Parts: sequence; structure tokens; C-alpha cells
Amino acid sequence: MSTYGRIISYAKPYHRYFPQYIVFALLAIIFGLTNLALLEPLFTVIFETKSSEELQKLATTNNGTLLSSGRQLFYQKLIDVRDSYGEEKVLIYVSIVIGTSALLSNLFTYISNVIMGYVRADVIQKIRNKVFENTTRLQLGFFAGERKGDIMSRMTNDVQEIETTLVSSIKVFFREPATIIVFLIYLFIVSVELTLFTLVFFPVMGFIISEIVKRLKKKAILSQESLGRIVNLMDEVFGGMRVIKAFTAKGYVNELFQKETENYRRINVSMARKNELASPTSQFLGILVVATLLVVGGNLVLEKETNLEAEQLLAYIIVFSQILNPAKSISQSISNIQRGIASADRIFKLIDEKPLIQSKPNAVTINRFEETIEIKNLGFKYEQEPILKNINLTIKKGETVALVGASGAGKSTLADLIPRFYDATEGDIFIDGLSLKDLDVNALRSLMGVVTQESILFNDSVGKNIAFAMPNANLSDIENAAKIANAHEFISELENGYDTNIGERGGKLSGGQRQRVSIARAIMKNPPILILDEATSALDTESEKLVQDALTNLMKNRTSIVIAHRLSTIQHADKIVVLDKGEISEVGTHAELMNSNGIYKKLVTMQSV
Ligand code: ADP
Repeated sequence: MSTYGRIISYAKPYHRYFPQYIVFALLAIIFGLTNLALLEPLFTVIFETKSSEELQKLATTNNGTLLSSGRQLFYQKLIDVRDSYGEEKVLIYVSIVIGTSALLSNLFTYISNVIMGYVRADVIQKIRNKVFENTTRLQLGFFAGERKGDIMSRMTNDVQEIETTLVSSIKVFFREPATIIVFLIYLFIVSVELTLFTLVFFPVMGFIISEIVKRLKKKAILSQESLGRIVNLMDEVFGGMRVIKAFTAKGYVNELFQKETENYRRINVSMARKNELASPTSQFLGILVVATLLVVGGNLVLEKETNLEAEQLLAYIIVFSQILNPAKSISQSISNIQRGIASADRIFKLIDEKPLIQSKPNAVTINRFEETIEIKNLGFKYEQEPILKNINLTIKKGETVALVGASGAGKSTLADLIPRFYDATEGDIFIDGLSLKDLDVNALRSLMGVVTQESILFNDSVGKNIAFAMPNANLSDIENAAKIANAHEFISELENGYDTNIGERGGKLSGGQRQRVSIARAIMKNPPILILDEATSALDTESEKLVQDALTNLMKNRTSIVIAHRLSTIQHADKIVVLDKGEISEVGTHAELMNSNGIYKKLVTMQSV
């Protein structure tokens, strides 16, 4: 299906609203025209060009069309009013009729736009939810490769562009053509000759404008991409304000920002040059047509060969000039639709992105961990460079295994492979003898709890953060988990206890408090396997002690894989695995490794100094 077809398919479920929309829109157009058509009798009255006999004639001629009948009725009424109340009252009468018809025209425009607004809002919501839902299914690697800001910009700006596309579509395919047709019918009734003449100008003008518009599409893509990079930068900068201030890197980030805004500016200027050309060009051409019309029409009036009257010519030109607006709007809408399609392409790419890590069709659902996690001949690379090589390791149920090594040695990467955040590029990992790839991904991850260096909390109450993704959790369970995590005390002292909102990313809590909430969350989930990635390294010594105690409680009776920077915290691990440049260089207990004079001993000595 074409991109455009796909956009429209989102609006399909709302087809039952279209008949209503069409009825109201048509009424709006007809009353809009009535307004203008009424100018003719108004001119007749104020210019006083007609004798009583002539008016009487107008009040009786009728060529059978609806318009003509309406006109005849109107003149009859007009004569009545004049005869009974005098000239001034005629003016008031005409003005009241014009006012009423204007009111109705705008009322119907309003109703039809509200109907359209309803459909728009719904479609946008559906698309946005769909993109978000699919994005959350994607593998972790996607968010590193594809830039976060870009994804956010797609979900905000690009989705908005689709809204414009929908509005523009209804304009291009219904509203404006209907307006043009209704107005043209009027023009033909007033003067066939003049209308045939003007019709020649339309295609010429339309062609010139559409040529200008056609060249916009590519620039629109560049502009959205640049905006994506700007959002990305803002996200990084506002998130890392502390570091930026500490390094007095204000100048540096400003420079980066200005470079990107400069790029965005250039794209927009060049877009504006073309975009803004459309409107003045069509205005100018429009005036040219009107001027020509004055000459041709004026001659028709003067020659008196046709029935065209001066008032009619004036009304004609006014109605005609109003026809130019929908014509212009069509060309503008076409360019909007093109922009929308460029945006939709980017959105559908996100919707179509298939998660790389998915459960196989016949995946096994396990809900217990019984014996071992075995890592066999495992190798891994993110891109070209091998990050892990030839890893062999068995973790028995109930063991605590520590991963240590220099920064960049591959500890976090190895830990990420166990919940299958990434797939091994060589070798495999087995849980109770089953390859991770044969297991249901959600079932596998249900066996594991993860606590990372940065506590990932959400802008919600403490309680909801602890009972993360468990809507049915009860308060006593939450409190229990918090108690074990050394968090109950400080939570109780918060303004609204467990219902206290903790702010964006948990910003209203201290680092240690956030970490204990994360630990309470892991306790709440009660998984048999734990992965702790530098869970205490971002803390000061005092809160580290509280967090460490909470961790010790958490690790009781579980199988744990612990990445620790401070080696004192993992001395009692059953197994310490030393990674060096992606390979296992030593394995043993603290005592064994201290005796063997390897990397571990060096690291411990360095830290104790
Ligand atoms: P450690 O946890 O031991 O500090 P990591 O596992 O975080 O080490 O990183 C190991 C190596 O992998 C590093 O060289 C790092 O630059 C690289 N790396 C980590 N994450 C990614 C990623 N998403 N894409 C590409 N390279 C990565």
C-alpha cells in the first residue's frame, strides 16, 4: 500500500462521519455563495439604476433555475418592502438577509470542522499509540543506534504533519472542489461567455503553482531530520546539565546547538523561498485574471449585446475572486500532503520496524529456574569490533557471581546477554539446559530482576514505582518490599507516604533513596535471578551502606550476577570472574584470586591504596 493509502486507511473507520461532514460542508458553501450573490440586489438598490418598471420585470422573470427563482422571489419581496416602508428600509432588509446567510454559512462551517476535528484527533491518537507501542517492543540496541531525539521528533512533529495531511486531503478532494463547482455554476448562470473565458486561465495558473510546490518534498525531510537532532541534543544537554556546568562546557554545547540550528535555519530559509513564492505568485496571477475580466466583462456590459448588467458584473467579479481562494488552497494543500507523506514515511518506518529479539513460534515458556545458567563459547560484537570472546562460565542456582575488570572490559555487555537484551553473535547461553533463543522472551525476563547504576524511575508515586508494572499489587506487599530494601522509613516520612509523587526520573529523591526504591521494586518482583550492574557505585559511603544492606537482603536465596566497581562489596561472592578486554582471564574466590597474583590482586591492591 502506498504511504498515502496507509494514512487514509487510519481514517477509514470513521467513514460514517463523512456523510454528515459533506452535508454540513455543502450547506456552508451554498450559504457562503448566497452571501455574495445577494450583493447584486444590494448594488441595484444603492445605485438606484433601475426604474420601477425594470425592477418589476426582474421580479417576474424566471428562467426556471433554482437561482433564478430565488432571485425573482427576492426582488418581489424587495418591491413589497420598498412600497410599504420606503427606500431606507430596503437597505436594512437586504443587509439583514445577508447577515443571516453569513451566520448560517459560518455555523455550518463550524459544525463541519468540528466533525473533522473529531476524526483528526482520533486518527492522530491511534497512530501515536501505535508507534509508541511498537517502539517499546524493539530491542535495546535500536535505541542506541537510532537516535532517541529522532524517535521523539517522529512521534511529535511527524505525527502532527499527518494531521495536516488529513485536513488537506479533505480540502483537496472535497471541500475546495465542491466550492469551486458551486461557485462556477453561479458564474455560468450569470454569464456563460465570461465564464468560458475565465476557465482558460485556471489551468495555466494551477500549473505554475503546482510546479513550485513539487520541489518542496525533499527539503521537508531534511528539515524534520535536523529538528530531530536538535531535540536529541536538548535531551542530552538538559539530562547532563550537572556535568556540563561542572566542566564549564556551556560554550561547547552552545556551539553544537547553534551549528544545528544554523543548519535548520538554512533548510528552512531555502524552503521558505519556494514555499512563500506560491502565495504572491498566485495572488498576482489572480489579479491579472480579474483585471482582464474587468476589461472583457466591462465591454459586454457596455455593448449591451448580452444581458449582463453592471451590478451583475460586480457580483460576478466578487464571486470569481472568491473562487481563487479554494484554487490556491488546493495547491497549498497538495504541498501539505506531500510534507505529510514525507513524515508518514518516517513514522511508518518505526511502525514497521520488527523487533530483532522475539520469541520463536514454538518458544518454551519456563516459569522456574532450577539448576544452572551456562555460557558456552560465547562471543559478541555490537558492530565490527568483537566485545566478548570465547566466554565459558557456569552459574549454579543460589550462587553469587561477580564480574570484575577494567572499564570497557565487557562486564555490562555480558550481563545484558543473559536477559537477552542482545543476542550472542557466537556460542550460546543455556538456562537449565535450554538455549535462550528457544525460550519465550517474556517468560525468560520474568525470571530476572535488574538493578542498574542509574535507577530508572518514573514520574509517578513511590508506591507505583515499587509495584512497577503490577497493577494489582497491594499496599502491604509494597511496604514489605520497601522494608527489606531499607526504604520504608524514608518513604513513610514523605509528604504523602507511598502516594508521594517522586518527580521526573525520581528527581525529588536522593541518589541512595532512588536506588533503594529500585531495589524494593526488584524485591517486589521476586525473581530467582538477579543482575546488579554497579548498583552502588554512584553513591556516597553512607547511603552506600544502606543500599548495600538492602542489596544483601535482596540477594538472599537468589542467584545473583553482580558487577561491582568497588571490589570490597563482592569479596564474599562464590565466584569472581575477571574480564580483560572481552575475555575471561581469571575465575575463583577472593582468597584464590588473591593468591594467584593476577589482575584481580592488582585491582584490589590499587583500590585499597
Ligand atoms: P564494562 O561494563 O566492562 O565497562 P561494557 O560492556 O559497557 O564494559 O562495554 C564494552 C565495550 O563495548 C566498550 O568498548 C564499549 O565502548 C562497547 N559498547 C558498549 N555498548 C555499546 C553499544 N551499544 N554499541 C557499540 N559499542 C558498545
